Amino acid sequence: MTNILLPTSTAGSLPKPSWLAEPEALWSPWKLQGDALADGQRDALQVALHEQTQAGIDIVSDGEQTRQHFVTTFIENLNGVDFEQRKTVTIRDRYQASVPTVIGPVSRQQSVFVEDAKFLRKQTKQPIKWALPGPMTMIDTLYDDYYHSREKLAWEFAKILNQEAKELEAAGVDIIQFDEPAFNVFFDDVNDWGMACLERAIEGLNCETAVHICYGYGIKANTEWKKTLGDEWRQYESVFPKLQKSNIDIISLECHNSRVPIELLELLRGKKVMVGAIDVASQVIETPEEVAQTLRQALKFIDADKLYPCTNCGMAPLSRATARAKLAALSAGSKIVRAELAQT
Ligand SMILES: [Zn+2]
Repeated sequence: MTNILLPTSTAGSLPKPSWLAEPEALWSPWKLQGDALADGQRDALQVALHEQTQAGIDIVSDGEQTRQHFVTTFIENLNGVDFEQRKTVTIRDRYQASVPTVIGPVSRQQSVFVEDAKFLRKQTKQPIKWALPGPMTMIDTLYDDYYHSREKLAWEFAKILNQEAKELEAAGVDIIQFDEPAFNVFFDDVNDWGMACLERAIEGLNCETAVHICYGYGIKANTEWKKTLGDEWRQYESVFPKLQKSNIDIISLECHNSRVPIELLELLRGKKVMVGAIDVASQVIETPEEVAQTLRQALKFIDADKLYPCTNCGMAPLSRATARAKLAALSAGSKIVRAELAQT
């Protein structure tokens, strides 16, 4: 896919231009409607791609410019979910949100992101990565008044995600990534059925597959939650062994500025790892040397040909200037380590 050592990428989202949506917010309403919105989203996708290539990012994405939210936008395109009937639930055991209700069998009305992926594919020859929500994270963002079973609903979503993933693969996507922050919260469920659902979602795919597991965007609910986790964040320890044995090719995780003990990466030995070397919960721009230092630490546990420098999570809530500077730091830091590896 790419011959470069330490190919850089982002977890997925980038800030949207202020003419498209309110900046520095999640679930930010669109500022355009109808055809103007569709045009605006495509224009923003091109801008996001341009900013990644300008920053020297190797594996590029759409910056998630056509979606309002990484989970909700996918669900909006499904049958069986009523967005008018809303219930307040606690997302990831952490914060309350008003969510739509599952009222019948869930199925995909049509392709959700495939046209966007084809559009991105036409714009670049670089490898492209496309993010989809993971089944467990999807069920955590809904009130289920039909299946009455988290496992059953997640399995149905896995089948739907698999249909979408196969179309994305056919559209020329090189890496399909499933975002599963819920894997960092519901450990027993992950091991009982969450991993099986994820494997169902990637069934029959020939492109590379990734799962992104993080401690969330830099929003208040997440930073408050992180304060309760103590000096060592060992959440990954519960799910890494199962991920290591899974058919998923790449694990995307949070490292820089987090309290995840770096030696937990040993549990993933043999897998490709997207190492978060950029903190998305801070406005402070990393220096290239700080990025390099995080990568050097990770290299103790990951072979150089399996290390993919990345961001800790999506950058949607950041300002565009901050995101641009952080992407440039990611590139520059990776370059330092690449040069060091070339000398050894
Ligand atoms: Zn994330």
